[in-house]
Amino acid sequence: MTQSTQERMTLPSDQDATGRTLGAEEIEAVAEAIRSGTLTSTKGSFTKKLEKDFAHLYGASAAHACASGTAAIHCAIAALDPEPGDEVVTTSITDMGALTPILYQGAIPVFADVDPRTLNVTAETIERVLSPRTRAIIVTHLFGNPCDMGPILALANARGIPVVEDCAQAFLTRDTTGLVGTLGAIGCFSLQQGKHITTGEGGVVVSNDAALARRMFLFINKAWGYGDANPDHYFIAPNYRISELQGACATAQLPKLEGSVRSRVDAAKRFAPQVEGLAGVTNPVVRDGTVHTYWKYALNVDPAVVPGGPAALGKRLSARGIASAPRYIQKPAFRCQVFRDQVTFGKSRWPFTLASKDAVDYAQERFPGTFAGLESVLVLPWNERYTDAHVDFIARSVRECHAEVLSGS
Ligand SMILES: *Cc1c(COP(=O)(O)O)cnc(C)c1O
Repeated sequence: MTQSTQERMTLPSDQDATGRTLGAEEIEAVAEAIRSGTLTSTKGSFTKKLEKDFAHLYGASAAHACASGTAAIHCAIAALDPEPGDEVVTTSITDMGALTPILYQGAIPVFADVDPRTLNVTAETIERVLSPRTRAIIVTHLFGNPCDMGPILALANARGIPVVEDCAQAFLTRDTTGLVGTLGAIGCFSLQQGKHITTGEGGVVVSNDAALARRMFLFINKAWGYGDANPDHYFIAPNYRISELQGACATAQLPKLEGSVRSRVDAAKRFAPQVEGLAGVTNPVVRDGTVHTYWKYALNVDPAVVPGGPAALGKRLSARGIASAPRYIQKPAFRCQVFRDQVTFGKSRWPFTLASKDAVDYAQERFPGTFAGLESVLVLPWNERYTDAHVDFIARSVRECHAEVLSGS
């Protein structure tokens, strides 16, 4: 097929109104917040309602709103309160916002390898990097596909290590035993522009552990003991509150979450069979009894079968208006400058100066799944506003581009 006859379509985008489910409800709620004149969540009612509704939706005893997904992870680490130099096991494939909070709290991120098919950490990859200094484990349910939590929790519980779930990409995602975010000690969510629901920026933490929830609430609020008989600033903590403008918007977004998730799942169900069986292309591996909620649709493209791998396919898809992401992130987190050169506070390199050699050994041979996974992942943009025509167009494009790449045309 020549360039000129190639089909093109403009897909809904999560960066603007075409691909976001924002409307009259959000406008009315934000307008009401403004009319009330109370824009701080310490005094207003919207953020409190968001927290109550979010906790209810997740069946959690507490939810607290905070400034971002990054702030949510920071709250979780701060609540667990590691000693400087303690280790927090995390994943080599995630958002930087899930990693820098570990360093801000003086702990050492220790990277576990991932399953090359799901790009998720597993009990085996985590176990390999546990040490006597492991203080917490953070798992990221990447793209909305749940980590296999049973074995991970068994491993962690046997050693008394709390598990934090990063659910920024995994709203209403289910593992075999329930909603992710409620399976470990703390669940962290992001309300950033491109997530399942959004307030532009924002985050939420949930926990069923009253002490951890209380500490996260304090951490969001400069550790000021609101409601206590003799309140004080109990420990070092930032102001990570959201404003009532975000809180109001989020209260209107939350009731739309189930519909948005259903639409993303339905689109994936329509899409999967249309690309099934293409040589070297594999649909996401979704374990039985779990629910993947498709923040993105990650195809596995075997570069040994498809010449040029995900990059070759991605290039042709972009000519049709489909902005896919070969490799997802360009390099594993530990190859980023902050880790490679240990750039932290002044010239101190702290807290890396406290790390064992093993904890910061980023040798490539320790991460076979990470490198193989990044070389074969093609992340397709996914959206709750896709119509059948959008889904069929993407599937047809993948099939045709795949044929072109294989025939070398
Ligand atoms: C988006 C994201 C974050 C950070 O959230 P922000 O709201 O952008 O700070 C953390 N972890 C994962 C897995 C994410 O996708």
